Amino acid sequence: MRIFDTHAHYDDDAFDSDRDEVISSLPSFGVELVMNVGCDLESSKKAAILAEKYPFMHASAGIHPHEAAKVPSDWEKELTELLALSPAVGEIGLDYHYDFSPREVQREIFDAQLSIAQRLDLPVIIHQRESTADTLDILSAHKGLRGVVHCFSGSLDTAKTLLSLGYHLGFGGALTFKNALKAPEVMEYMPEDRILFETDCPYMTPVPYRGKRNFSGYVPLVVLRAAEIRRTDPEALSLSALENGRSLFFSK
Ligand SMILES: [Zn+2]
Ligand SMILES: [Zn+2]
Repeated sequence: MRIFDTHAHYDDDAFDSDRDEVISSLPSFGVELVMNVGCDLESSKKAAILAEKYPFMHASAGIHPHEAAKVPSDWEKELTELLALSPAVGEIGLDYHYDFSPREVQREIFDAQLSIAQRLDLPVIIHQRESTADTLDILSAHKGLRGVVHCFSGSLDTAKTLLSLGYHLGFGGALTFKNALKAPEVMEYMPEDRILFETDCPYMTPVPYRGKRNFSGYVPLVVLRAAEIRRTDPEALSLSALENGRSLFFSK
């Protein structure tokens, strides 16, 4: 299978002991492209260093809602500098499950980063958890943006709204979980040209490795489940998802 892992966190501490070994092994698993997603200024810088080292790796830059309350006062300037070398803004969004940053601050930082993405004409990588209504409101106010809502686990109605706004949806390990009820229904409905695959590694490890550290070599397990749901050929599905990711992030 030819794989584009569109959402990974190889700068995470979980890879401190064997990062280079794991990343160097990825091409042997069919991984052709990886988007390493920044979560704050520091991790976005680390991601940029990895992208410089590995030709198949790319780095986005952004402030995750968890980190929204901790940004320095000149964050917009610093982020804009990082984005000069980056293909995407992310990960950005709203997380009302953990509420690590006050919701008002999350909304403000999310909104500001969508404006930056519009100004720089860059795609966005969106994280949303238990914040569907506000996320849709804010995205609807920024018409014309393109991007992906990653680790999608929402309802079919939410998926349809996001698709009508022009977004791609990213699917990862959660699709393989026995208790995933909505994701299969959404996967069955998805137009093929809006599907992306991802790990969100080190998290969201697919069955049967759930509980272990995730990595891009496990993406084929997600593709196999998706192909089973759609009654289609996994090789063809992974290839079209790779092309979808390529045109979303690198068509400019
Ligand atoms: Zn996320
Ligand atoms: Zn993430």
